This record gives sequence, C-alpha cells and structure tokens, in this order.
Amino acid sequence: MQKYSLFTKGKIHMFENLLVTGGAGFIGSEFVRAGVSLGYKIAVIDKITYAGDVYRLQNVLNKITFHRVDICDIKAIEKILKKEKVDAVVHFAAETHVDRSILDSAPFMTTNIMGTRVLLEAVKKFGVKRFINISTDEVYGEAKRGKFREDSPLNPSSPYSVSKSASDMLGRAYYRTYGIPVITVRPSNAYGPYQFPEKLIPLAIYNILKNKEIPVYGKGLNVREWTYVSDLVSGIFSVLENGRVSEIYNIGSGEEKRNIDVVKSILLNMNKGEEFIKFVEDRPGHDFRYALNSEKIRNELKWSPIVSFNQGIIKTIEFYTRHLNWLEALLYRKSG
Ligand code: NAD
Repeated sequence: MQKYSLFTKGKIHMFENLLVTGGAGFIGSEFVRAGVSLGYKIAVIDKITYAGDVYRLQNVLNKITFHRVDICDIKAIEKILKKEKVDAVVHFAAETHVDRSILDSAPFMTTNIMGTRVLLEAVKKFGVKRFINISTDEVYGEAKRGKFREDSPLNPSSPYSVSKSASDMLGRAYYRTYGIPVITVRPSNAYGPYQFPEKLIPLAIYNILKNKEIPVYGKGLNVREWTYVSDLVSGIFSVLENGRVSEIYNIGSGEEKRNIDVVKSILLNMNKGEEFIKFVEDRPGHDFRYALNSEKIRNELKWSPIVSFNQGIIKTIEFYTRHLNWLEALLYRKSG
C-alpha cells in the first residue's frame, strides 16, 4: 500500500474518530486501510450491496468497527453515531454505476439522495465536527471544452449523476440551513486495486485475463480524467484535516485519456493485441468528456498526485492478476 504521510507529516490529527460510510467499497476501503495506517479510529457502515465486500478490509478488520447497515436506516444510524462518538463522517456509500442507473434508477434515488438525507439528519441530532460528502465530477455534466471549477454550474445527465447532484446539494443545504460542517469533494474517475469489475479498467483487465473481448462504447473516444485511488484518498484526507467548512474541492490528476487509449495501454502492458477490442453500441446519453480544474486543492491544501497513469495502470494490472480468484468470487457471489 502507498505510504500515506504527506498530508499529516509532524501533525496531530484534528479528528480522531471517523465514521466511514461505504467503507467496504472500492474508494472507501482504500480510505479505511490508509486511515488505520495513519492511526485514526474508524467505524465503517456498509450495507454490502453487490459492490461491497469485507474482503477489501481483511487486513484491518481487527482494528476497526464494522457495521453492516443501510444508510437509509435512520434508527441504526442514530444508534451508531451515539455509540461511536464520531468526530467526522466521511460519506462514500452510494450506488455508483451509471449503466445500472440507466436500467433502474430507483436504488440510486433511495441510497444516494434519501441515504444522504438520513446521515445529515442524524449528524444534525448528534453533532459532528466535519461531514465530508463525496460527490463526483459527473455533477458538472460533460465538458465540451475547458475544465470545470468548483463554481461551475451543475448540469448532470444520467440518473446516477442526478442522484449525486442532489446528494451534493443536500449536503450544502444542510450547512447553509442548519450549520452542519459539510465539505464537498468532487473527484474525477478513480482506478486502482479492488474496484468492482464492471467499470472500464478492471473490466478490461479481467476480460484479458479470461481471454475475452473488451466491450468499448461507441468508438472509444469519450474522455475521462484518471486519478489513482491512493492519490484521491490522500486528497480526501487533506480536505478532512485542512479543508474549509462549506467549501467544495475538485480532486483530479489532470491526466485525461480517451477510453480507447486506456484500453490500448492495458493491452500493451499485458502483451496483448488490439483484437481484444470490441466496439459496442454507445451508452445512452453518454457524456463525452469530464475534466476538472483542481487548482484549489493544489494551491490551498498543497495536494498533488504522485502516481502517473503509466505507473498506476501497471500497479493495477499487477493487482488484478494476483487477485483473479477474488474477482471471480465477487462476480460469482453477485450472480449466484
Ligand atoms: P463502490 O460501488 O465501489 O462502493 C460503494 C459502497 O457503498 C459499497 O461497499 C456498497 O456496499 C456501499 N453501499 C451502497 N449502498 C449502500 C447503502 N444504502 N447503505 C450502506 N452502504 C451502501 O463505489 P466507489 O467507486 O468506491 O465510490 C465511492 C464514492 O465515490 C461514491 O459516492 C461515488 O459516487 C464517488 N465517486 C466514485 C468515483 C469512481 O471513479 N469510482 C469517481 C467520483 C466519485
């Protein structure tokens, strides 16, 4: 695991007891593993949907408290907040896959909007010093040109990004209305170990490992900004410890890539040819490009990414190659 020291060097944490929602997911579990290594006391809430897996936390399970709970369950959430004496909530839990939101938006509205409301209501009652609301770059909609700043208007296009926009705005409304100390984080696309293999990068690697074609939407020209998961998590810790209440922070590496180039880079690094690429019908309403201006977190909090795409993709391929059994078990569990 990457060493997480940059943002806490010689510094005592302002917040000791963290409640992390969605801590058994891809980014949340990286945050929990890092948080434990940095000496935070962590309680995790996760419903363990098809995307959640406690295996991601196996090395830290004896150092954290784990609650298998739905964030929409107000009674359970209030009980946990009362018991755990929480300084800060870091809220990752969400339904996260755009394609699934196109097939059925209901769980997205329930978890991403109502679940966020439940958490905000609970912290209103019990009080916390920080509520870090993890939003997404997708709330801005597609970037035809230029890059989105934190004050750019929201223009979400998929049911997923609409539900995330509502969650994002709800957090800010609870600051404005009730003074809840919310900070909003809008990350770009993340990649790295332990991501569920329905998203482009782990899906492509998994399919190559299984000698299967890689489905690529349209002509693969859509552009995303790729941030390695440990860099994103170090940015979230910077925001937690040093960010200003009520502010919004974009977090992106600045490395924009077309999907087709991401897939070609994976093929190259796995010594495979382009015959694995299978162009498929484009996703309805597919945003062409996302791009963040992340000057605010870079200048104000002195955050910067340290893993380049070329390094990150190699680490990621190595991880999935070593964890093929885990991937299969996850997929089997979901379909079985
Ligand atoms: P993920 O799908 O890997 O994990 C989500 C976790 O939330 C899972 O462990 C799941 O079990 C849990 N969960 C879902 N519904 C729940 C509920 N009702 N109650 C409790 N737990 C529940 O997602 P991720 O990629 O780790 O994303 C984490 C957060 O970051 C999300 O809010 C997502 O919108 C945001 N985000 C992700 C990316 C990305 O590229 N992955 C980019 C920008 C923002």
